[in-house]
Amino acid sequence: MRQIRDELLALKESPLYTYRTENNYFPVIGEGSHDASIVFVGEAPGKNEAQTGKPFCGAAGKLLDQLLTSIDVPRSQVYITNIVKDRPPENRDPTPAEIEFYGPYLDRQIQIIQPKVIATLGRFSYGYIMQKFDSPTFLEPISKAHGKIFNTSSSYGLIKIIPLYHPAAAIYNQHLKETLFVDFAVLKQFV
Ligand code: URA
Repeated sequence: MRQIRDELLALKESPLYTYRTENNYFPVIGEGSHDASIVFVGEAPGKNEAQTGKPFCGAAGKLLDQLLTSIDVPRSQVYITNIVKDRPPENRDPTPAEIEFYGPYLDRQIQIIQPKVIATLGRFSYGYIMQKFDSPTFLEPISKAHGKIFNTSSSYGLIKIIPLYHPAAAIYNQHLKETLFVDFAVLKQFV
């Protein structure tokens, strides 16, 4: 993990490197237990995250903390990261090129931690992880797939992919928020 961090810090080829350095931002590598049974994969750092180098430490992070508390799981027991490791300008969606560029770093993190469960937060990580591990011919929209358990295999054994809505989408949407709490309860059995 330290090597991944050092590589990302030095990586001038990154499509977001200039934006990061001009703003004195940090890359956000990830945080939590390297023995975690669940890895959460978000989208990309926001401003708070890029300023601190910590994933999910702004408003979406507050909701993520509440969701973890609802299943009695401390943050330190899971691993939380994103596909894209640098903040995209103006919080725009990550581009396919950015996802392709940073994806292999996420792959290496998953390989190090070897979680039983990958919980994706939002449609970008859902799309990336499903095509990586499950190769479905038809990818259900996140509105259908959320909260379901997809059993699949990885290079280190059987794993489960559990797609979840992104907490940021649920902050001002009470219905999505309730759905997220219900979906989170599914995770409890895998901790
Ligand atoms: N949204 C994300 O997808 N990741 C973060 O780290 C923060 C907000």
